[in-house]
Amino acid sequence: MTRTPTIDAHGSGPGAFVVSLDFELYWGARDHVAYPDWIERLEQARSAVPKLLNMFREFEIHATWAVVGMLLSADRQDLFGRIPRNRPRYGRSHLSPYRHVGVIGREEIDDGAHYARTLVDLIARTPNQEVASHTFSHYYCLEAGQSSCAFEEDLRAAVAVHRQFLDASLRTLVFPRNQVNRDYFDILRQLGICVYRGTPDSWLYRPTRRVRYDLIRRGLRFLDCYVPVSGGNVFDLPAVQPCPMDVQASSFLRPYSRKLKFFEPLKLRRIRRSLDRAAATGAMYHLWWHPENFWTNVDENFVMLKRILEHAARLRSRGRLVSLNMGEVFDRSSAPLGAPCERVHGNSLAGSELIADAN
Ligand SMILES: [Zn+2]
Repeated sequence: MTRTPTIDAHGSGPGAFVVSLDFELYWGARDHVAYPDWIERLEQARSAVPKLLNMFREFEIHATWAVVGMLLSADRQDLFGRIPRNRPRYGRSHLSPYRHVGVIGREEIDDGAHYARTLVDLIARTPNQEVASHTFSHYYCLEAGQSSCAFEEDLRAAVAVHRQFLDASLRTLVFPRNQVNRDYFDILRQLGICVYRGTPDSWLYRPTRRVRYDLIRRGLRFLDCYVPVSGGNVFDLPAVQPCPMDVQASSFLRPYSRKLKFFEPLKLRRIRRSLDRAAATGAMYHLWWHPENFWTNVDENFVMLKRILEHAARLRSRGRLVSLNMGEVFDRSSAPLGAPCERVHGNSLAGSELIADAN
């Protein structure tokens, strides 16, 4: 039987293995993959969700699923009714999903690329899974042309559809393309969002617009999945509860590649070593990916994931690691600085003083 150790945020207790997934279907791919090409992936992309949930159940993995709010719409009429009046006017206009909504299907049964209520319901009913937000429209917070007003309306739409569909408050956000915009933290606080996924400390992962990715950075990020270019990327568990709290990402789980299959053992070794380090030092290791990444090389991807989860299970059986979703990192952090974020729910600005001290 697995021991359930308590977490010591100062490093002497067990480490934490945090998992998060960005669930977006075509809304997250539409600016770089043609629709007919993506549709070929649809069945496998959707079927990855129940398979992942089964594996998480088997290995008692607690995970956060950051869902694009549009996927929660009941049908096209429902989605149209939720579209904010104030929408982002991206300089690169192809980024806007609102150019695309006119061609989507009527509901999930005839358009599984743009609706996903059945899958999100499955996630919500699986133990230890947190349903979080990936904004309403896969909103790009650092892109030229968007604004704080448009972001606020987008996030309000995400909060509303989440509450209506899941009958629960939304409190965790993953910024699309990891475009963390600290200028928007007041909006997060006002809407009761108290947890977000930040980027690793290395300059390789500094939030930026996609257009500014340079080839060197992309190349090094790629290499970083196999060898520790950016270091171990384990982090101290937050010792206080600022609002919003940064539950930093450690690594992107790059899907299996047939072309690079000889390097796959390096990738696994890098992840295992980071887990070992988190377990040895009482730190946090946060792995993230998209369920849609498992649309191809399905068997190989699930074998890869199983090996990672088996390693995490071994550490957990020794009492050196716990599995947490992002919301649980917030809940389990000790020594809260002032009021916990629950008090921020209800559009109070009470948390705004907290972050000024804590960050
Ligand atoms: Zn995304």
